[in-house]
Amino acid sequence: MNFLSIIESKREGKVLASDTIENFVHEFTAGKIPDYQMAALLMAIYFRGLNTAETTALTLAMRDSGDVLEFPADTRPLVDKHSTGGIGDKVSLPLAPLLACLGFRVPMISGRGLGITGGTLDKLDSIPGFQTSLPVEKIVKQVQQVGCVICGQTDRMVPADKKIYALRDASGTVPSIPLITASILSKKLAEGLVALVLDVKFGCAAFMETKADARKLAKAMVALGNECGVNTRAILTDMNTPLGRAAGNWLEVKESVACLEPGRADLLVSQAAQQHGPTDVRQLVLECAAHLLVQTGKAGSLKAGHRQAEECLNSGAPRRRWDEMLTAQGADLKAFHRKLKQDSTAKTFIELKSEQTGYVSKCDARIIGEVIRDLGGGRLTKESAINYEAGVDWLAKPGEAVKKGSVLVRIHAANRVQAEAARARLRAAFEISAKPPAACPLVAGMMR
Ligand code: URA
Repeated sequence: MNFLSIIESKREGKVLASDTIENFVHEFTAGKIPDYQMAALLMAIYFRGLNTAETTALTLAMRDSGDVLEFPADTRPLVDKHSTGGIGDKVSLPLAPLLACLGFRVPMISGRGLGITGGTLDKLDSIPGFQTSLPVEKIVKQVQQVGCVICGQTDRMVPADKKIYALRDASGTVPSIPLITASILSKKLAEGLVALVLDVKFGCAAFMETKADARKLAKAMVALGNECGVNTRAILTDMNTPLGRAAGNWLEVKESVACLEPGRADLLVSQAAQQHGPTDVRQLVLECAAHLLVQTGKAGSLKAGHRQAEECLNSGAPRRRWDEMLTAQGADLKAFHRKLKQDSTAKTFIELKSEQTGYVSKCDARIIGEVIRDLGGGRLTKESAINYEAGVDWLAKPGEAVKKGSVLVRIHAANRVQAEAARARLRAAFEISAKPPAACPLVAGMMR
């Protein structure tokens, strides 16, 4: 293969043929194209883009670079959700058992966090004994038996993405819509899905800061997903404020259990939380489930889907299914329930209190994400060790009334010095105003 001429063609803005793309993905995965040449092609793609046919060819070639999950015939549709990531986004955790109880099979292959964005696998790693690394046979068996699995990509799944993503990370070519689209969808297509809902976030802590950019990415992913035979929808959601009242790995698991078990206000205890509960987390979980019910013909309308999902969530069945999923993946349930009962599992925790009476008008997700990362809750590099217990909870959210002295947030940290430093930085994340701010909808749009 003359890879240099492929780089030159893309550099000049020419369209690459599908078989050319298939060949170079295959050769690169087999180690026959040097990283410096692939990095040059990625940069050419970053500037010149890929059209729909090229993006489709790249996505399918990446999907087929390794194992694809194959499930036995079953009446339960295979579905999944993907989020472009943000602070406090724990939706996957309660959603997987909810979907399983709604009659779906959910092979949720998830990732780890990098930078300020949390990762589902890191959250699950905070559960005593829970295994996120499973062989393909076990993934399929668990999905058939329990209805859901949340685990990492195996070494044999989509190896082309692993190699290409590492190069993109090191060559400044991550923010390219066709490359992001191919990377995300190749992994989702390897799950053998019937329907997929994408949560594309916009805002100060999102991958795409503006709604317009998020819309562009959503449009590209929806078109490609549908083109590849998976019924795909996207919702655009706000990531200026963290989702829920807790952010940080273990604290998000705790909030997920509160979402599955609406009576457990003790898991969230805060003056504001007792009044409101984790309403935005619950709203987004139900929204994703409702779309998938409509996409697979199990509900006639979004409203009917919402009702069906809500009844199921309130029945308590998804909470029991969650424990089944944990057991199937090796968790020590007794230790998990003991851990849930603890107010804080970090070495120390302190509160940040409001200095005025008024309404919360800002709760900045980016500042909060950066503080959690620096407390050890996230990664600065892929090799960073995680402190699973670090994070924040009792977050006061925009629109809520606070008094002078009310808690705006609690900080869980490895020691007092780190906790104090975080508290000083977190003050800038909150703004208190005399009047309530204009309401900002969590879900700002949908695409199909
Ligand atoms: N997540 C992925 O898996 N790939 C990207 O390119 C960006 C986010």
